[in-house]
Amino acid sequence: MYGLMQDHPLLISSLIRHAAANHGGREVVSRLVDGSIHRTNYATIELRARRLAHALTSRGIRLGDRIATLAWNTHRHVECFYGVSGMGAVLHTVNPRLFHEQIEYIIRHAEDRILFFDADLLPIVESIAPQIGCVEHFVVLCERAQVPKSELLQLAAYEDWIAAAGEDYAWPQFDERTASSLCYTSGTTGNPKGVLYSHRSTLIHALAASQRDGFALSSLDSVMPIAPLFHANGWSLPYACPMVGAKMVLPGNRMDAASLYELISGERVSFSVGVPTIWTMLLAYTGEKGLQLDALERCLVAGTALPPAVQKALKDLHGVTAIHAWGMTETSPIGTLSTPTPEVLALPEDQREAELLKQGRVPYGAEIQVRDAEGRVAPKDGQTFGPLWIRGPWIASGYFKGEGGKVLDADGWFPTGDVATWDELGFMKITDRTKDVIKSGGEWISSIDVENAAMSHPKVALAAAVAAFHPKWDERPVLVIVPKDGQELSRDELLEFLAPKMAKWWLPDDVVFVREMPMTATGKILKAKLREQYWHRLE
Ligand code: ADP
Repeated sequence: MYGLMQDHPLLISSLIRHAAANHGGREVVSRLVDGSIHRTNYATIELRARRLAHALTSRGIRLGDRIATLAWNTHRHVECFYGVSGMGAVLHTVNPRLFHEQIEYIIRHAEDRILFFDADLLPIVESIAPQIGCVEHFVVLCERAQVPKSELLQLAAYEDWIAAAGEDYAWPQFDERTASSLCYTSGTTGNPKGVLYSHRSTLIHALAASQRDGFALSSLDSVMPIAPLFHANGWSLPYACPMVGAKMVLPGNRMDAASLYELISGERVSFSVGVPTIWTMLLAYTGEKGLQLDALERCLVAGTALPPAVQKALKDLHGVTAIHAWGMTETSPIGTLSTPTPEVLALPEDQREAELLKQGRVPYGAEIQVRDAEGRVAPKDGQTFGPLWIRGPWIASGYFKGEGGKVLDADGWFPTGDVATWDELGFMKITDRTKDVIKSGGEWISSIDVENAAMSHPKVALAAAVAAFHPKWDERPVLVIVPKDGQELSRDELLEFLAPKMAKWWLPDDVVFVREMPMTATGKILKAKLREQYWHRLE
């Protein structure tokens, strides 16, 4: 017997319809690529997204067609999230920081029919244009007068498309399992692979993410996604903010501390998300200028491990609670969040802090499992490391066009490629990516723990622990360090500092000082490259 309740499909258009109807006047503030500040609201965004959907329909775009964006965080990009997915097409958000060959590859692989892009990214578009024959229209996210000159391409202005399209467009209804957006993993090895989200997965994920034990979002918040919208759905914020009616503050392409600070302070930002390096940069800036992170109450930190020193400085100096989270493109992206439970709050202070520094626990809907070397479920002892698996309604079941073959195990678990421990309170801690693990004499050393210990030294800006070949132990850790500007630090000074902080056999065999680290397009240290570089260091 079926229940007698209404059956409304969970569609992305319903979010912006809700925001327009119930929070229509709530502001969406953007820094445009020319540096100017633009103000709009949800009612206007919904109207313009409908016009965009109309414009796409009249150009022959149909359910399931892929439409690419190469764009920064602005209101026009948010409109694309709704105009494209809302009409049933698939929004493919492309990361402009990828190598040009990768951008070209993923646009061809996705067979994108239209490319919307920010004016400052024209050089990238022109350089790959001859290879992306699938793209029928190149549309610049600006007014006609701001469209840059191109010898090579016929460029349209986004504002012309919006102005010419009528308002008499109603959001269509279709199956909630329809594909809504596409995001490629950056593919540090091999070609990038496409993660294809659905309307249903996106909505359930946004509901889970915005809960009190998650981002704790409400209409009282002013939210700044510093993490780019092209990185794993902007960590759900383009969906979760309209869902609750929170104000959005979009920083465009200006990621320097002064520009970010100006918006955080001027727009009374209460919640923000970003990778640890963003917070390190903002802490350095506010420290130097003697500024406070004003209205900011909490921030979500993910992408790489949150260094304890960053969490502490945010709390002690600015009263900001940093919530550590873990996830990946394949998990929409939220997998776990480190928010307290009564059991955690009852712990003595040092244990409580250590617990909240872990990557955390799953919200309802996701399930995780840590397995041991034999593939059995690992004990919840906070000690045993093993591969981390995840499953749930917002976790990928495979990659676009079947790349990478079958990925789930027989019980539907997704292998994350991360190594973790978990404890009896349900808190998970990432110790490594599988490929970054350091295996010394058959035992695993957590490179993240070694890095965090090194990062707590006041003269260290960045740290990476990588495996080097060792004739007796197979592998031993080598620590690669970028000192803070103008600071001198010796190998022995650092090793002495680390010695009381870890088991003796975890202590790195060598320390290398460098000026900069090789980074991935998503702002992570390219460990594979460091490992290759220092593999023979100890021979
Ligand atoms: P990319 O590899 O392209 O950066 P993802 O954003 O999907 O793409 O990266 C996900 C990976 O980032 C995870 O598998 C994990 O290794 C790492 N990661 C994410 N959050 C954390 C965290 N809080 N601590 C440690 N590692 C993290």
